[in-house]
Amino acid sequence: MNWIKKTLRFGEKIKILLKKRPTKEEVESSDWTSCCKGPVLKKDLENHLFVCDSCGKHHRINCKQRFDIVFGKNNYEILKTPIPQDDPLGWEDSKTYKERLKSARKKTGQNCAVMIVKTKINNINITAGAFDFAFIGASVGAAEGEAIIYGIQHAIDNQNPFVLFTAGGGMRMFESLIALSQMTRTTLAISELKKNNLPYLVCLTDPTAGGITASFAMLGDIALAEPGALVAFAGKRVIQATVKEELPTDFQKSEYVEKCGFVDLIVARKDLREKISSILSILLKKNSSINSISDETPEDNRTLTKAAS
Ligand SMILES: [Zn+2]
Repeated sequence: MNWIKKTLRFGEKIKILLKKRPTKEEVESSDWTSCCKGPVLKKDLENHLFVCDSCGKHHRINCKQRFDIVFGKNNYEILKTPIPQDDPLGWEDSKTYKERLKSARKKTGQNCAVMIVKTKINNINITAGAFDFAFIGASVGAAEGEAIIYGIQHAIDNQNPFVLFTAGGGMRMFESLIALSQMTRTTLAISELKKNNLPYLVCLTDPTAGGITASFAMLGDIALAEPGALVAFAGKRVIQATVKEELPTDFQKSEYVEKCGFVDLIVARKDLREKISSILSILLKKNSSINSISDETPEDNRTLTKAAS
C-alpha cells in the first residue's frame, strides 16, 4: 500500500505547483501585465500611452503618468496639499488603517490618493488634480477631500480653470462619516468655483464609482470620459438583484453613460490634451478658432459688400 500513498503525495505536490499563482506584489513589480492577447510588456504599453493597440483598452495610470501625458513631462508643478490627522477613528479590521496608509504611501510615493498640480496648456494656466487607484482604491478620506478643496482654492486665487481626472471606488470606509462629509465639502467648494465663473472640467477615468460619482465627479461644466471606463454608483450585481432584470453588457461603461446623458464626450487618451485645451479656450473665450472666425466674418462681409457695390 505504500506505493499508493507515495503516488498520492506526489500528485498533491503537482497540484500545489500548478495552483501556485504570483502574488499581487509580484504582478505589480514585474515587467509584464496582461491584456486581450495575453502578456504585454509594460514598457510597450507605456509607449502607447498605456493604451492597448489591439483592443484599445485604456489601462489605469498613476497621477504623474496622467499629467505627463496630458500636460507634458516636467510641464507642471506639484502643489503640497494639507495632510490632516491619520486614522481619526483608530480603525482596525484584518489590518490597522495606519498600516494600510503606510503601505499605500510606500507603494505610490504619495501622501494621499489625490495629487494637485499647477500647469499650462497653450498659454492657459490650469489647476489640475488626479487620483491614483493604487492608493487604497483611490477612495476619498479627509486628506483627499482637503487636497481637492486646496486645488479649488488655488484655482480661485489664481483665477484658473480647475481640471479633475477622477477615479476611485467611493468614500473611504475607514474614516466613516468623516469621509462621507467630504462629499458635501467638495460640492460646496465647487459651487464657490462656479460663483467665480471659473470652468470646472471633469474627466472620468476607470473606475469612477460610489460617493465620488455622487458628488464632485458629476458636477463638471463639461464631463469627459475615457473609453471603456467604469462609471457607476452601486455595483452592477447589486442593481441586478434589486431590479430583478437582466442589464445590458455595456451597463456602466462610459459609452453607455454617455448615451444616458451623464457624460458629454468620450475622449481617447491621446486626444485629451487637445480636447481639454480647445474646450477651455472656448469657455474662457481665449483665442479659440470660433472666436477668431466670428471676429473675421464682419470684416470679410464688408469687403464682399464693397466689392459688390
Ligand atoms: Zn488589449
